[in-house]
Amino acid sequence: MIALPITHDCRVAATSFWIPRLGMTFSSLDEAWEFWVTYGGRMGFDVRKSYTNTSNLDGLVTSSRFVCSNQGSRAGDKRFCVVKRNRAHTRTGCLVRMGITLERENKIYKVHDLFVEHNHILQTAQTSHLMPSQRNISKHQAIDIEVADDSGIAPKAAHEFLGRYVGGSANLGYTHRDHKNYLRTKRQREMLYGEAGSLLKYFQDKVVENPSFQYAIQMDCEEQIANIFWADAKMIVDYAHFGDVITFDTTFGTNKEYRPFGMFVGFNQFRETIVFGAALMYDETFESFKWMFNAFLSTHNQKQPQTIFTDQDIAMGKAVAEVFSNAWHGLCTWHISQNAVKHLNSQDEESEDEEESSILLDFSSCMYQYEQKEDFEEAFNAMRLKVSKSTWLDSIYMLKHKWAECYMLNVFSIGMRSTQLSESLNNALKGHLKSDLDLIRFLKRVDHVVQDKREKEIQAEFESRKKQPRIGMSAPMLLQASMIYTPAIFEVFQAEYEKHLAAYTIGSNGTNEFVIAIGALRGTLTVEEERKVIVNAADQMVSCSCRLFERIGILCRHALKGLDLVNIKILPERYILKRWTRDARSGIIQDKHGRDIVENPNLDAAIRYKNLCKMFISLASRAADFEDSYLLVEEALHNVSKHVEEKLKELLTLMQKSLVLNKHSACQNNMLMSLV
Ligand SMILES: [Zn+2]
Ligand SMILES: [Zn+2]
Repeated sequence: MIALPITHDCRVAATSFWIPRLGMTFSSLDEAWEFWVTYGGRMGFDVRKSYTNTSNLDGLVTSSRFVCSNQGSRAGDKRFCVVKRNRAHTRTGCLVRMGITLERENKIYKVHDLFVEHNHILQTAQTSHLMPSQRNISKHQAIDIEVADDSGIAPKAAHEFLGRYVGGSANLGYTHRDHKNYLRTKRQREMLYGEAGSLLKYFQDKVVENPSFQYAIQMDCEEQIANIFWADAKMIVDYAHFGDVITFDTTFGTNKEYRPFGMFVGFNQFRETIVFGAALMYDETFESFKWMFNAFLSTHNQKQPQTIFTDQDIAMGKAVAEVFSNAWHGLCTWHISQNAVKHLNSQDEESEDEEESSILLDFSSCMYQYEQKEDFEEAFNAMRLKVSKSTWLDSIYMLKHKWAECYMLNVFSIGMRSTQLSESLNNALKGHLKSDLDLIRFLKRVDHVVQDKREKEIQAEFESRKKQPRIGMSAPMLLQASMIYTPAIFEVFQAEYEKHLAAYTIGSNGTNEFVIAIGALRGTLTVEEERKVIVNAADQMVSCSCRLFERIGILCRHALKGLDLVNIKILPERYILKRWTRDARSGIIQDKHGRDIVENPNLDAAIRYKNLCKMFISLASRAADFEDSYLLVEEALHNVSKHVEEKLKELLTLMQKSLVLNKHSACQNNMLMSLV
């Protein structure tokens, strides 16, 4: 197909700023080269540099010549062997060129040599974006490409999607093949470093992105990676706010290396799952767990959790006791139940199904129901008599203080008993943790799953601001609670408040001690749940023998009745646990180096970039319909881009100056790198 020479009006307007003229000046070599690339793109010819002369004295470029890529002629094939397929000839000896020389006195480059008549067919406006010199993946585009890949979107679909975003793939400035090549080179680069090297590079890049990112890698004696622990800035912030009760579990899927993968998880103010750190382990030995738990504490400023739940693993349990020495260690009820089904169901082949399930029910009651130790012991013994072999029961009995309700009455657990906090998190991870993923891709997928989870919190935050909670009655304490608590927690509080209306005082010492019971309709009205409540009106203090506040951080129905009895109608501040409030995230958190943590330093730039894109696209689609409006925008943008370059130079100089003053500011360093 023969392309006709360009006749499109806007390409030949002689006054256009992008048409080269003799005597034209540029403030730098880069500016001149960009000008030539733009000119080539507009006219429809590909460009290259013919030569560049550099001064031996000061290293400055003294002159350079930019040409049409058809310049020169193809050298004859010097090889003796028969070439099966000749590449098409692209050199036509075209003389188009622009020569520039440095004027030393004012450090500018001046066009001293110009020739613009091509001896060949040029590309059209529709095809010129495919020329190599016009194809370029910008920094922001590279991020988009990587994000799409990390999310598991195929390159073709991603390219099409990103193209639509800018009004057609021709406007992207790179082709589908460039997109694929970019990803391939990136992966090859990653592989070049080897597993350990690529891992280090991955984490170091994360640190450059955000200096608060933390990781620890343990090498074995052969310099192979043994254990890895990492936590990003948000995990550190989350732990500072919500690290009171945590779970650790290694039962997620495995990657190519078949290593155990574990996560530290907890609840945020909406009772949604959040992640505090992740670990890829070599094995599940005491030494590995100990190293990893220490890495976790070191990352989180040595702040111990109050409570930690894990599965029933002896090595892990030993390490928990040693490292998390201030924490109460509980066993996950989900894991215990799984084991109960396995061990108790297969007890007696001949036993009836009904009997089997009754044993499981008995076991479940021992786990959740009995508040008195004597009741628990009695029930457990009765259950033991029902089974012929009780090896597993005996072993789990030894650990009773880690899973039986009667031993947890004083444990701050915020209602958590299991490591299986979030079905959706587990499923999402299992879906992503395919066995053929290499290490880096695996880490990226984990990152992706965590990000997904974070969007849920943003959604919950949005909902909590949009919808007012349903309040059953206009009692001052309820109204107060609805404004302070997040909706999920308010629901729990409101349920307790409603129940307190049915409370009776069935005993009292006349001043500050009450026996309180809740009335219930069981055919006739009965009183249940007898509790002892002590109130101190002067200090606005209340305590209840059910210890709900001590366990989950919300006042119980009995305590609420106690407050009411001494005419306290507003929730005393000491009974509002910050972690359950709408303000749970207030306050600045510092990392272990004492730096204030910024969760996403690139967020502002990313938002600004997206805003500009939106403005430019809508302006472009308005202005493109008529040549006059098009030329107006073109000229304005040309002027603006000059101002922007000047501004950037100014900022760069300022930052370099402040860097000299403050050498260790990693954040500024990063910004500087991205500017340069
Ligand atoms: Zn040419
Ligand atoms: Zn109570």
